Amino acid sequence: MRRFDGDHLLIATHNKGKLEEMAALLAPFGITVSSAKDHGLPEPEETGTTFVENARIKAHAAAQATGLPALSDDSGIEIDALDGAPGVYTADWAETPNGRDFIMAMQKTHDLLQAKAAPYPRSARFCCTLVLAWPDGHDEVFPGVMEGEIVWPMRGDEGHGYDPIFQPKGHSQTFGEMDRWEKNRISHRARAVEQLKQVLGG
Ligand code: IMP
Repeated sequence: MRRFDGDHLLIATHNKGKLEEMAALLAPFGITVSSAKDHGLPEPEETGTTFVENARIKAHAAAQATGLPALSDDSGIEIDALDGAPGVYTADWAETPNGRDFIMAMQKTHDLLQAKAAPYPRSARFCCTLVLAWPDGHDEVFPGVMEGEIVWPMRGDEGHGYDPIFQPKGHSQTFGEMDRWEKNRISHRARAVEQLKQVLGG
């Protein structure tokens, strides 16, 4: 496995919520971050059908464009009663002509589960795949998963995306109710960063 010995990483995302989480997760390693947006990079089209394919697309696009090692995150939620949907299309479910609307996406998720009369608990998992890509084309892949269930109504206004309807296993709060410190201790993204640690210097 190739090691990363630098103290700054370009995070290949335009998503503010993900960037803030990654900044907090990498700070203990003495790594500061900048975003694809800070570097004026366009958002590449995510044409893959798996988290790892899309994460690779984003990390390599950023590394090639800047000549810097780049870390990407492709993530989403898989709901068993919806045959794994929305999965890699998690962000797409929130798209509107005026930007992303996650209240609408969570409502759609709930409506589909109700239409199917999905039994409880409505098991689901948040998945995160991190890819660290170097400008020479090499990459390393780090997956992380957090099991839980979909709840309704939405609870909490912390976090981002689908956090208010996801209650992680073994916890009574949704990700949306947890403070950032608590979510960052247990989340799918934290678990992927746990894997990433293997290649960080120090
Ligand atoms: P993408 O990885 O940019 O395709 O987007 C993944 C989408 O999954 C995000 O826009 C969020 O809607 C959702 N998502 C990923 N991680 C989280 C999380 O930690 N909390 C809530 N939603 C998340």
